[in-house]
Amino acid sequence: MSAVTEPVSGTNIVTRFAPSPTGFLHIGGARTALFNWLFARHHGGKFLLRIEDTDRARSTQPAIAAILDGMRWLGLDWDGEEVYQFARADRHAAVAHQMLDSGHAYRCWMSQEEIAAQREEAQAAKRPYRIRSPWRDRSDGPLDQPHVVRIRAEREGATTIRDLVQGEVTVQNAELDDMVLLRSDGTPTYMLAVVVDDHDMGVTHVIRGDDHLNNAFRQLTIIRAMNWPEPTYAHIPLIHGADGAKLSKRHGALGVNDYRDELGVLPEALFNHLLRLGWGHGDAEIISREQAVEWFTLDGVGKSPSRFDLKKLDSLNGHYIRAADDARLADLAARFLPFEASAEQRDLLQRSMYALKPRAANLIEIAQGAAFLFRTRPLEMDADAQALLEGGARALLASLHDALDAVANWNTEALETAVREVAESAGVKLGAVAQPLRAALTGKRTSPGIFDVLVLLGRDESLGRIADQMTASPGE
Ligand code: GLU
Repeated sequence: MSAVTEPVSGTNIVTRFAPSPTGFLHIGGARTALFNWLFARHHGGKFLLRIEDTDRARSTQPAIAAILDGMRWLGLDWDGEEVYQFARADRHAAVAHQMLDSGHAYRCWMSQEEIAAQREEAQAAKRPYRIRSPWRDRSDGPLDQPHVVRIRAEREGATTIRDLVQGEVTVQNAELDDMVLLRSDGTPTYMLAVVVDDHDMGVTHVIRGDDHLNNAFRQLTIIRAMNWPEPTYAHIPLIHGADGAKLSKRHGALGVNDYRDELGVLPEALFNHLLRLGWGHGDAEIISREQAVEWFTLDGVGKSPSRFDLKKLDSLNGHYIRAADDARLADLAARFLPFEASAEQRDLLQRSMYALKPRAANLIEIAQGAAFLFRTRPLEMDADAQALLEGGARALLASLHDALDAVANWNTEALETAVREVAESAGVKLGAVAQPLRAALTGKRTSPGIFDVLVLLGRDESLGRIADQMTASPGE
């Protein structure tokens, strides 16, 4: 079955993202939102947001806030105000009543016991269970007794969906049952609400996870009964983890906000990675927002599940960190410092960014790499740094102190010359001098380039830190 490609007219495209606010914005949801956003932006259409908050017990305000926040962070701006589904319950019910009037729906007084008995009978006969209500062909039920409203679904023939990703998919109508539209308390079902909202919002393209493909057939029965225009469907494959199993907690964080708040990921990196989940454009890996809008079509969406790969995300994030503005990075990385940075410390962080960002895969690594800048003397040496100061290293520090003290212009070139001279006259390699120097200046074994460290700390602080380590502390 090959994917069906439909020309799109360009101006009237309307897509929507319709999350149920029962938790944070999930990676899978964000990818769905992104594809809808891109499709709309590519075609100059509209991207709408509908909060499907009809499950009153599970929908929460914090979840709504987290979803809106996550979308804003990713730059997925929606057109107009978001629509809240629960507030539209009367309209949904009105449509069910219209269907009653036109004969496309009927009132059903079947009891739970009767339904259970039918189900058992079907199971005993080993045939799939489809409700067969005796009320489908009766109109003499007691209106004052509790009842539901069911669709009068077509039983003959078949329904075919020409899905832009899945291709042509056909289901026999006999497999679809007379689903409930209004519960006995008069509230609309989810299936009815989605269809009415999509219609009223003028949605032309329904792009969502392929776990909704079965729903599409049931939703179409309502759309056809109402004689409404059918949207074009695109059901996109789910996301798996790097190991090929369905994405779950054990693959790492699932919430978009965690990537920002816990993992120090830039929104453009997550945007780029989400984009590559199931969509591609030749060999392109690094794709900007503008490029994505220009290139995105549903033809590029594959039918097999894509893999969320943290290593790829890290490498994209490293790329975007190197491309990012230093002032912005300093603001973002400051949030990962273990203390509240003063304006001065924040400036130092920004000035140091050129040395911190080349190797960082995320903002946390930047903050960790910057820690040496904010230490106070005498620095505590970690075990690795301590080991680097053993043997003849402290004597080398004394020579370094003299040589650096004599440097007139405290810049990278002059400092490098001075340090090289110390190594040469001691008859050792540069590393044998640079390593204890690094330990003395940072308290650690790894840091940005050693000459950058000297420049960033400045003359007084550098010489002070070196002097602190020239003699072993008591007890060593
Ligand atoms: N509210 C549904 C969900 O969060 C999506 C419904 C739809 O896209 O049609 O899974």
